[in-house]
Amino acid sequence: MELKVIKGDITKQTTDAIVNAANSSLLGGGGVDGAIHRAAGPELVDACRTVIARIGSCSPGEAVITPAFNLPAKYVIHTVGPVWNGGDKQEPNKLASCYWKSLDLAAAKDLETIAFPNISTGIYRFPKEKAAEVALYTVNEWMQADPDTSLREIRFVCFDDENYEIYQRLLDEK
Ligand code: ADP
Repeated sequence: MELKVIKGDITKQTTDAIVNAANSSLLGGGGVDGAIHRAAGPELVDACRTVIARIGSCSPGEAVITPAFNLPAKYVIHTVGPVWNGGDKQEPNKLASCYWKSLDLAAAKDLETIAFPNISTGIYRFPKEKAAEVALYTVNEWMQADPDTSLREIRFVCFDDENYEIYQRLLDEK
């Protein structure tokens, strides 16, 4: 199992799945969500509507999977990060749940590679360093809980320099 950190655009990743930092409506928004929907094409929002018709809404910490349509990836895993609200509203637990449930969905489909954006660190204002610590800790815990997983690469795709530097430093410290 390889943990990789790159600087780049998640819509360009050729991993089996890419993860979207969605909102509870799953109908698209700004930031990485908007970029993924633009690149995937209108079928993605149709697929999300079908999911929402079934489950009502997607709460923070939950994740669902759809095909990726025009993207190079095969699947999009839509997860809803928590909005940062000072830190004592379960934000770290909800963020951890985003990573954990996304990995569970990928493993349930026997996928081998997955790419994550830096969930909640944009419009949702989760402090970047704390978010990276939660992401790396959770992914490591998940790997230990499921050592026979199909997954062989987990990629963190950082869009901004600050996140990229944080992830590189935290991974080096391990
Ligand atoms: P959230 O609402 O969860 O905070 P945002 O989309 O605002 O979601 O931001 C999440 C992270 O995604 C931010 O770190 C932002 O820099 C990053 N981001 C924005 N566009 C892209 C992209 N095309 N590829 C990868 N990451 C992106």
